Amino acid sequence: MRIGTGWDIHPLIPQRPLVIGGVHIPYEKGEAGHSDGDALVHAIIDALLGAAALGDIGTLFSPSDPQWQDISSLVLLELVLEKLTGFTIEHIDSTVVLERPALLPHILSIRLSLAGACRLAVEHISVKAKTAEGLLGAIGAGEAVMAQAVVLLSDTQETVPDRWL
Ligand code: MG
Repeated sequence: MRIGTGWDIHPLIPQRPLVIGGVHIPYEKGEAGHSDGDALVHAIIDALLGAAALGDIGTLFSPSDPQWQDISSLVLLELVLEKLTGFTIEHIDSTVVLERPALLPHILSIRLSLAGACRLAVEHISVKAKTAEGLLGAIGAGEAVMAQAVVLLSDTQETVPDRWL
């Protein structure tokens, strides 16, 4: 078994879509970012890469590379999943910290979106939503969204594969 953690934060600005776990959530602001800025998917990607010791999202998808501009982060997740040959995702747990809008009505949609993207049963994708209670600077002021993720992978290969070479 291998465990990985991921963390991400994005500013919230007008005239951008709010995308969380691949789900568009109606709101007056959305994530600034080179891609669609989906902080939850970015945290999950870093957790997956961490568990596999394959680097981090910024190394794989450079923010200066125009091919990733405004791209759906689910596409980036798909590219990462292709690198995880020999691993099985056992479980993903995550937390989104967002002052507003309330995420509770969207949690099941987000879990289903991520389950579909990761080809996992929805009971193995957990998404928890919190506010910052007005604290934590920009997050509590509603000017940023933060996400954390933990991933458990099982390694189904017995020898050291060439993915690390
Ligand atoms: Mg990010």
